[in-house]
Formats: sequence, C-alpha cells, structure tokens
Amino acid sequence: MSALRPSPITPTVDFERDGVQHGFLRLPYSRDDSAWGSVMIPVCVVRNGKGSTALLTGGNHGDEYEGPLALYELARTLDPKNVSGTVIIVPAMNYPAFRAGTRTSPIDNGNMNRSFPGRSDGTVTQKIADYFQRELLPRGDIVFDFHSGGKTLDFVPFCAAHTLQDKAQEAKAFAAVEAFSAPFSMRMTEIDAVGMYDTAAEEMGKVFVTTELGGGGTSRAETVRIARRGILNVLRHAGIVDGAVEKSRTQWLDMPSGDCFAFAEDDGMIETMVDLGEPVEDGQVVARIHPVGRTGQAPREIRARMSGLLAARHFPGLVKAGDCVSVMAMAVR
Ligand SMILES: [Zn+2]
Repeated sequence: MSALRPSPITPTVDFERDGVQHGFLRLPYSRDDSAWGSVMIPVCVVRNGKGSTALLTGGNHGDEYEGPLALYELARTLDPKNVSGTVIIVPAMNYPAFRAGTRTSPIDNGNMNRSFPGRSDGTVTQKIADYFQRELLPRGDIVFDFHSGGKTLDFVPFCAAHTLQDKAQEAKAFAAVEAFSAPFSMRMTEIDAVGMYDTAAEEMGKVFVTTELGGGGTSRAETVRIARRGILNVLRHAGIVDGAVEKSRTQWLDMPSGDCFAFAEDDGMIETMVDLGEPVEDGQVVARIHPVGRTGQAPREIRARMSGLLAARHFPGLVKAGDCVSVMAMAVR
C-alpha cells in the first residue's frame, strides 16, 4: 500500500540523544523557486535520560499564535538539567501555513487538523501529518497541541480534552488539563472529528490535551502568559520538568451537544450581543446579522439553543452564510 512508503521527511535531530538540539524536519518540496528545495520545519528536542516523552505542537493552524509564542520560548529556555525524559517541540507544525499567516497551507490548501493519518505520497500537508502519525506520535506519552481561534474565531481562554470511551485515558487527560490551570477548562465535543490530530493521538492511547486561547489572528498578553505558564505546569504534572505545578482556579465547562454551535444562514455584518464569558439564557439573542445590500432591512437574530456562557464568537465584522457565529458552553462543578 502506498501509504506505507517511508516518510520523505528527514529529521536533523536525534530523538535519542541527551541534551538540547535545535534542528529541522526536512521535507523535500521541489518547486519553481527552489528546484531541489525543502520545507524546513523547526524542531527542538530536549532530553535527559529515560522517562516519559512529551510531544508539544503549535501552529497546527498557521494563524494561531499563543502556541508558537509559548513553544519557541520553551525551546529557547528549557534546561535539560530540569528535565527527566524527553520534550519534543514543534512550534509551527504546519510551517508553510504559519509562514503565510493562514489557517491552511498555501501550498496545497491543506488543513493539518483534517489531514490525519496523512499520506507519505500525498501533498505537503499530508506528508507532515503522516510523519507525525508514524514517527512522532508513537514516541509521545503526553501529546499537547496548542490552538487558538485564528483569524475568524475568538475564544475564552481554555485548556481542553475530549470525553473518551477509555475512562482511564480520559481521566489522565483531564488531570493534565486541570494542571494547565487556564481560566477555563473544557470537556470538549468536536463537530468534525475525522482527520484530526486529536483523534489520531487518542486512538493511539495517548494522553492528548489541547487549548483554545483567544484568537482573531493575533495574541494577547494575558493569553500568552496563560500558554507559557500552562505548558510548564503540564510538563511538571507529567514529571518531565522539575518543580511544583502553579495551580490557579479554573472553571470547568462542558459542550454537551451540537446545540452549542450557531451558524450564520445569511451574509452580512455581525453585531455581537454578548461578550465572551458572559452568561446566556436559552433563547437569548447572542448576535444579529445585518443585511448591508440596502437600507431598511431588519437584522437576522441568532439565538442560543442552550443556557450557559459564550465560549467563542465569530471574529471579523463581516460574516457569510455557514460561518460559525457562536459557541456556547455550560459551566460544571
Ligand atoms: Zn486551530
């Protein structure tokens, strides 16, 4: 089967060597401006003897910045003396997308988080996914993937894991979420789980933890602080980095069903009626979409289909039919 060809990616680091290594996952990509060129995906390995391995990624989507800001810094500062085991850091997983500042890759339009398990003979994005699927994920005991809302969504800052069939695996993931100590912690439901990195990691039995920390195609001082402190907390919690977890209060949230999500049915200009984190009653208007082609037309109201708080909202001022307008979550505990 073609998918079982070896990966074309060559790491310039040795995952078994002690110390700090900064290198690349080199992926051949021949193109007009570079005949025998490669995509050079930055990778850092910090290893100190035997122990658990953490696989840390940002830039799965190229327009989300808290993860890369936390992980380039961690790669620059993590001292192997404080490590027991291995930390593998890929701060910009979909590197072509990250360099372009776009969610998906400008090379092949690939959405990394819909490309798993990938293909070794596929597009650039599929080849990166395949390398994670077959080479990096199997090394990880704990797998942490940073996300934020990107250019089109904005979230209350939360760390998250999924409800899983395997309750022991689920409990380990939720314990790591709790250790991250974001202002909010989410029991997450996916609307479109096929092809996700999350699913690939969970199906391998890994402890998988993710985030949504802000968005809008940029970062904020607060969300970057949350990311940097949180990832160290998770590494301490896993026993990979020395020191005590700096716990702070977190509000657990649940996304119990598809009723969490609201989608635009019209194009127009969006008026948010509720700000992130504010309480919302079932049936309350959370946003209005104003038609702009002519004056004298009433806005279309978007109503919440459950009570809770506003966890995410569409970010840019204009929406199109089908855009995700709002995500509700329910406070638990
Ligand atoms: Zn994302």
